[in-house]
Amino acid sequence: MYYCDNETIHGVEYRKPPTPNPRNPLLMTDMTSNFFSKPIDVSKFGIIYAGSQKNYGIPGLTIMVVRNDLLKGDQELGSLPSEYSYKKQAKNPTSKPPVFAILFALEYMKYMKSIGGMKEIERQAIAKSQMLYDVIDNSGGFYRNLVEKSSRSRKNIHCIIQNNNKELTEKFKKEAAKRGMIQISGHRSVGGLRFSIYNGMPLDGVLRMKNFMLEFQQKYEMKPKL
Ligand SMILES: *Cc1c(COP(=O)(O)O)cnc(C)c1O
Repeated sequence: MYYCDNETIHGVEYRKPPTPNPRNPLLMTDMTSNFFSKPIDVSKFGIIYAGSQKNYGIPGLTIMVVRNDLLKGDQELGSLPSEYSYKKQAKNPTSKPPVFAILFALEYMKYMKSIGGMKEIERQAIAKSQMLYDVIDNSGGFYRNLVEKSSRSRKNIHCIIQNNNKELTEKFKKEAAKRGMIQISGHRSVGGLRFSIYNGMPLDGVLRMKNFMLEFQQKYEMKPKL
């Protein structure tokens, strides 16, 4: 079973891994957008992979956690190019690794460890995301998030303004940009707004967005005429 642990477009995240079919219990996951954001039980997985660019460094690196028996290559296609062979890569890694991306990731891992490891990183991820979900949920419908609460992503918070009002959404983006908050458009397939708060986003940045959202609602919410 292959799944994506955090789907970034709508902002949907698994709280715990799904249970694979017992007849073929191999579980594989793409954790690019939420790797290093919570403790995970690696023994439940055959393969975990995650690119560095969102949560643990600069682009150019992908960490793979591969179960030992899968490194034997028993099920590999004979014609598999060596780049795709876990067996060959594990035994004889590429001779030209992206050393700066690896060094950066190492330093970031040391940093995460120094502040309390995955428990602390998870606490921060919950605190940051909850801050924005609270604004949305307490806005009386001005802002809305359409994801089932128990599956809401801690990394990508999707948000629509007054039933996806295009004019207000554009205004929001423009005014946010003036305050230095950019790249908050929803994915082109769903529209709206999307606040991506990967590991590198400090609480201060989220707080700034929270305050802006409150202010924006005050300013633009249409109050019924008395
Ligand atoms: C972002 C992402 C990717 C691809 O990342 P790029 O930055 O577009 O290369 C792959 N998988 C998941 C789950 C992602 O969130």
